[in-house]
Amino acid sequence: MSSRTPQGPAPEASVLKARLERAREAAAGTGLLIAPGSDLRYLIGQAGGSFERLTALVIPADGPVALVVPKLEAPGFTGSPLEELGVDVVTWVDGDDAYGVAADRLRGAERVAVSDFTPALHVLALRDALPKVEQVLAGPIVRELRMRKDAAELDALRKAGAAIDRVHARVGEWLRPGRTEAEVGADIAAAIVEEGHVLADFVIVGSGPNGASPHHAVSDRVIEAGDVVVVDIGGPVAEGYNSDSTRTYAVGAPRDADVAATYAVLQQAQQAAVDAVRPGVSAESIDAAAREVITAAGFGDLFIHRTGHGIGLDVHEEPYIVSGNGLPLEPGMAFSIEPGIYQPGRWGARIEDIVVVTADGVESMNNRPHHLVVL
Ligand code: ZN
Ligand code: ZN
Ligand code: ZN
Repeated sequence: MSSRTPQGPAPEASVLKARLERAREAAAGTGLLIAPGSDLRYLIGQAGGSFERLTALVIPADGPVALVVPKLEAPGFTGSPLEELGVDVVTWVDGDDAYGVAADRLRGAERVAVSDFTPALHVLALRDALPKVEQVLAGPIVRELRMRKDAAELDALRKAGAAIDRVHARVGEWLRPGRTEAEVGADIAAAIVEEGHVLADFVIVGSGPNGASPHHAVSDRVIEAGDVVVVDIGGPVAEGYNSDSTRTYAVGAPRDADVAATYAVLQQAQQAAVDAVRPGVSAESIDAAAREVITAAGFGDLFIHRTGHGIGLDVHEEPYIVSGNGLPLEPGMAFSIEPGIYQPGRWGARIEDIVVVTADGVESMNNRPHHLVVL
């Protein structure tokens, strides 16, 4: 999520306070330095912005939490209940040694965990300010908190899922022969906002051969009758939580004779993976559930990415649904299930839902039909 994303109200101060305490506990003696972005929004309710001037939340192993922030950026944090959270706001002005200010708050620490997307500019300057302190990534610490969503976070994901479902329900209004992917994409982007997101974060309209490129965006290719079209779209709602859903459409009867049979395999694979979700099973077993169906049908080489990714304040976050990830699933974990089959040079298809692990199974945030939608 970009720092320019418009923000809705922050969570209750009591919720944020508990998160800050849990972050400190999870850090287990390591200092934490959190730069602007989704980790900061998770902890204090505001994402801030990363610039050449240092802004960082400093959480020492003990002692008060501090927000080190350039004086000119401080007004950007008025939406955060910093006072109620007991966070010291430490402003600095050009000419001050901001890294020295942050370092002072971390003195005595043997290790400092730095949030994953902290600019190298700041990481290396902090290393100079704390030459004897080991730097590690904060991702493994913060993900322990962010991976399990609470009730309010799940409500925001449901709201985002319902909003993107409403956009998919309208794709037939725009996807027609003679229009370019870019034209269709612009209409979809407008609808993403109309239906309740604060912005359209990404719009993929992959028609014909472009559908075989999973991260294609849009192009000037003119859509033709008979095209299969992958539409993968999403964005954040005011609470900051994201939608991400893919459906595959056909503009009239598909040109390629193998579409129906191949698509049936994909639909079966996606359903098998959704049906496999419950507490206690591993993330990689969900990937395997989809992959086994596709491989058994002879398309294993055409499924060229992991089955899914976690989602929340970021579109891609932990847990990743990928071979090698033995993480046991727990209630509250939210992630995509999005197998695809890509026929190079001809067409591609993907089906993507966001699902949440419940106490005894799975809940889908997306509820549009899964079949190939022939327009
Ligand atoms: Zn992706
Ligand atoms: Zn997607
Ligand atoms: Zn996705």
